[in-house]
Amino acid sequence: MAGSRVPVREQDPKVRAHNFEEVCLGYDEAEAVQEAQRCLGCKKPMCVAGCPVGIDIPGFIARLKEGDAVGASRVLARDSALPAVCGRVCPQETQCEGRCVLGVKGEPVAIGKLERYAADTARRMGVQAEPPQEKNGMRVAVIGAGPAGLTCAGDLARMGYEVKIFEALHQAGGVLVYGIPEFRLPKREVVEAEIENVRRLGVQIETNVVVGRSVTIDGLLDEEGYDAVFIGSGAGLPKFMGIPGENGNGVFSANEYLTRANLMKAFSDEYDTPIVTGRRVAVVGGGNVAMDAARTALRLGAQTHIVYRRGEQELPARAEEVHHAKEEGVVFDLLTNPREILLDENGWVRGMVCVRMGLGEPDASGRRRPVEIEGSEFTMEVDTVIMALGTSPNPLIASTTRGLETNRWRCIVADERDGRTTKEGVYAGGDAVTGAATVILAMGAGKAAAKGIDAYLKGRKK
Ligand SMILES: Cc1cc2nc3c(=O)[nH]c(=O)nc-3n(C[C@H](O)[C@H](O)[C@H](O)COP(=O)(O)OP(=O)(O)OC[C@H]3O[C@@H](n4cnc5c(N)ncnc54)[C@H](O)[C@@H]3O)c2cc1C
Ligand code: SF4
Repeated sequence: MAGSRVPVREQDPKVRAHNFEEVCLGYDEAEAVQEAQRCLGCKKPMCVAGCPVGIDIPGFIARLKEGDAVGASRVLARDSALPAVCGRVCPQETQCEGRCVLGVKGEPVAIGKLERYAADTARRMGVQAEPPQEKNGMRVAVIGAGPAGLTCAGDLARMGYEVKIFEALHQAGGVLVYGIPEFRLPKREVVEAEIENVRRLGVQIETNVVVGRSVTIDGLLDEEGYDAVFIGSGAGLPKFMGIPGENGNGVFSANEYLTRANLMKAFSDEYDTPIVTGRRVAVVGGGNVAMDAARTALRLGAQTHIVYRRGEQELPARAEEVHHAKEEGVVFDLLTNPREILLDENGWVRGMVCVRMGLGEPDASGRRRPVEIEGSEFTMEVDTVIMALGTSPNPLIASTTRGLETNRWRCIVADERDGRTTKEGVYAGGDAVTGAATVILAMGAGKAAAKGIDAYLKGRKK
């Protein structure tokens, strides 16, 4: 019998609400082996069908059953450049674990926690990626060092291409470094180490280069001799509500707030990045980004509220994130919608007028449509408002590249099978194509585009 899942240790909510250390402590060796024993090693593994990059899940778990974490990490490395990242942030409950046969009658295997254990153990033991033996003489430029760009670059380097990533920020990693907080994804120990492995494959990463300003895609292809380009520039442009008072001091996009806290280490006393911590903070939105912003504000010492216009059932964030936020003391004001942000005489936030909502018939998204309850207006006393309403791609690249088509959401038009865009030799994937999505979908798109670029360049050589 498979029995029940081995529970994973976590920091006590009362303690972790005041620090930025990782919430989940992961399995130790005995726990990982015990959990791995639950896997049936299915002949037709449904879990693999649920993984967007097709990791050999029963294969790596079989190594763990024998206590061979290094062997398990080598199986993972065949399909993923970022296993320690994915083990921590992938929505496994709707992917591999959501398809595991054990989930039909009981609890699925904790695939994510086992992936994390294998990757962490191998890294701590000093296991490194091996660079490819031969180069094929062709060069590919990659725009953006997020999960899509890093994956595409790593796969192309393994195939023998000379690959250079151009990254706008001063640090590689994309949302992994500037969006997802330290307490969910440690930067130095996990993200930087996995990026270092991509570098070891021979990938060069040049930071502080905004493609579309100092360099353009046409210039890379026509003047700098690159044979192909992959765009993995993400979706970093925040959306706002368009309500009065949104331009006030103390109103932030979640992106700006989290970037200050993560990339510029505003949470650390050793750095002097300014951040308005606020005394009472309202985070507007109900997705993972909203949970991250709320849990960051809480750790910075604020009394923090999530303000979301639909109900608990409709919260788009992962159940685990909502549970963690509640445990730590974030207050949920559900079925509540902001109407106006009130400012004091100096332009600083002093409150937010909200209205209560009820739920009507389902809308196009299948979720019940929120409808305002007449006469239910009230004022929340807050001094900081963080808008976490989603993001869209920045139009800079599309507007500076001849022949690159975008759709009405500003996303680059690309074939999902191989990442091909409307411009010859230019491929794209990740959030820049889909709009804000997930790490593993961006990685899957990077992998598909690496294959697409390889097929294109081999075809051109003939
Ligand atoms: C706060 C937050 C929490 C999240 N939590 C999760 C989670 O728990 N699980 C999950 O699966 N997903 C999560 N996501 C979503 C996930 O991080 C993204 O879907 C994923 O990072 C997309 O990868 P990408 O490579 O397409 O883009 P990004 O990660 O956005 O990387 C794009 C990179 O391109 C660079 N760039 C942009 N324009 C240019 C330019 N003109 N020139 C050069 N470089 C450029 C950017 O600086 C960036 O480094 C979260 C997102 C946020 C914001
Ligand atoms: S579906 Fe579940 S039990 Fe079967 S191989 Fe995958 S993880 Fe193991």
